[in-house]
Amino acid sequence: MQESPKDLRRLSEEELRTYLESIGEPAYRARQIREWLWEKAARDIDSMTNLSRGLRQKLSQDFVLQPATFSKVQRSEDGTLKNAVRLHDGLVVESVLIPTSTRTTACVSSQVGCALDCQFCATARLKRQRNLSAGEIFDQVALIGEQSRSFFGRPLSNIVFMGMGEPLLNYDEVLEAIRRITAPDGLGMAPRRITVSTVGLPKQIRRLALEPLGFGLAVSLHSAIDAKRSQIMPVNRTNPLSELMEALQEWYRLTGRRITFEYVVWKGFNDRLEDALALRDYCRKVPSKVNLIEYNAIGDPRFEQADPDSIQRYVEVLEADGTVVKIRRSRGRDIDAACGQLANRSLDEP
Ligand code: SAH
Repeated sequence: MQESPKDLRRLSEEELRTYLESIGEPAYRARQIREWLWEKAARDIDSMTNLSRGLRQKLSQDFVLQPATFSKVQRSEDGTLKNAVRLHDGLVVESVLIPTSTRTTACVSSQVGCALDCQFCATARLKRQRNLSAGEIFDQVALIGEQSRSFFGRPLSNIVFMGMGEPLLNYDEVLEAIRRITAPDGLGMAPRRITVSTVGLPKQIRRLALEPLGFGLAVSLHSAIDAKRSQIMPVNRTNPLSELMEALQEWYRLTGRRITFEYVVWKGFNDRLEDALALRDYCRKVPSKVNLIEYNAIGDPRFEQADPDSIQRYVEVLEADGTVVKIRRSRGRDIDAACGQLANRSLDEP
């Protein structure tokens, strides 16, 4: 069987140079190709116009470029745009552009589906199919960047890995994408404007702390009591809060960046004083802040947003302890673009 041609974006610097040498091309072509791929986000080999036609033909014979494309765009009443992103093998993920008065944030996916089974999340109901490649993650950012300029007349200001999937279970490709997004000879975005959000995998967080990339870390906590957290996030059964905390302390020691805890308060589940106190105690152990996220219903009667009073109690308990806490309003809910709602629903429609 013939091997399928290699993705041009998966060649290492060294492989590219060796290849060019083997076909008698000068070394500076490597830099030109790299510029097309990662600075100009070229979507096909033929558009690389400063390469000779002969070289472009040769490249097209030996390699493929497999860009992701937007196959459908939905616009929310609040301006949020949800994009269905079609991958080269026909699978689809979703990416969201969230404009506010001060920011334009891209929310990108890292996996097709998700394996972690968080009970309150719509993506968990999709089977995990595969990891995205660094190129496919990069494409989401490049495409949303263009979209931001054309819809809102300004560039992207922030990127959050809060779309479909668990970024730390696709570690290498996510990190490679972040390198390309932040590199001066890539998209050149500031690392501190990037946030990786995770269910909280201690081993991967320790590894992440060693990467000198400078992005932020958010952890989806939802309960600071093991028995409760395990009930709604099965991942907690094998990665309990104490181990998570040790990894987070290590992260802080090595990066000096405080952690963001994402937290939803549900009626009758974690809306009591004891829950707020447990979160307060957890936050005491590492420099951190808390984002209280509004719950976006996914049609499961077990979960209902808590009363404003119980949410306010969290705010008071945390603030009294000196922890910064914000209530995050949901965006794009009318088009199922909000946190936890990404489930390729738009595919069901004609
Ligand atoms: N796997 C990563 C990133 C994806 S989820 C993670 O878990 O962090 C992005 C955020 O949305 C997480 O904090 C997640 O807990 C939250 N979320 C999931 N379902 C939600 C829902 N129905 N309503 C509100 N937030 C939800």
